[in-house]
Amino acid sequence: MTDRELRSAIIQACLEMNRNGLNQGTSGNISARLEAGLLITPSGLPYEALQPEDIVFLDMQGRPEGRWKPSSEWRFHRDILHARPEAGAVVHVHSPYATALAILGRGIPAIHYMIAAAGGPTIRCAPYATFGSEALSQYALEALEGRSACLLANHGMIAVGADLAKALWLAGEVETLARQYHACLQVGEPVILSDAEIARVVEKFRSYGPKAQDTAPPTSG
Ligand code: 13P
Ligand code: ZN
Repeated sequence: MTDRELRSAIIQACLEMNRNGLNQGTSGNISARLEAGLLITPSGLPYEALQPEDIVFLDMQGRPEGRWKPSSEWRFHRDILHARPEAGAVVHVHSPYATALAILGRGIPAIHYMIAAAGGPTIRCAPYATFGSEALSQYALEALEGRSACLLANHGMIAVGADLAKALWLAGEVETLARQYHACLQVGEPVILSDAEIARVVEKFRSYGPKAQDTAPPTSG
């Protein structure tokens, strides 16, 4: 993808996260890795009005290039992309159910095998720190240890992916898990899957996905 294509893809991802209810208004932000740094949404600009040149370039030291100020959360985007060489994109949203759990200070336990999509048997909730602060970035990095998603107390959620589509998909999965957990908590005590079972699913997910049917004739006997 060229620099311009990636800028357009970030804008499309922003519009999609608002369209599908993962976010509202100018809350949330998205970044994607470039060879020399990262591209990130500008702070506080309505997504509907964004043009490719409004997306801000940041080098890995956090020095911006562009006409707008980068997202106030540029630090955790930069720190996550720096700490995770396999990550290509970071999505941050204030989705209703994940945020509700984060307001309760609760992470998500293994209520469903899909939690394995975030890398392990829990999605942790990072302690509260002011938006845009270095402390928030530090807490987020700790909560993301061995995971590709976390909640942020009294704030929202972060999802990390190999590319924009995967990060956005994961944010949707985490919101669904949060909604399911919330529904369970209305009724009683959910059954939690074991760490061993989630480790099995994490492994199975490595080869999960559409595959062409094996056309070789079945062997007899
Ligand atoms: P920005 O508009 O600066 O990206 O801030 C939105 C947000 O979600 C802060 O946490
Ligand atoms: Zn936020």
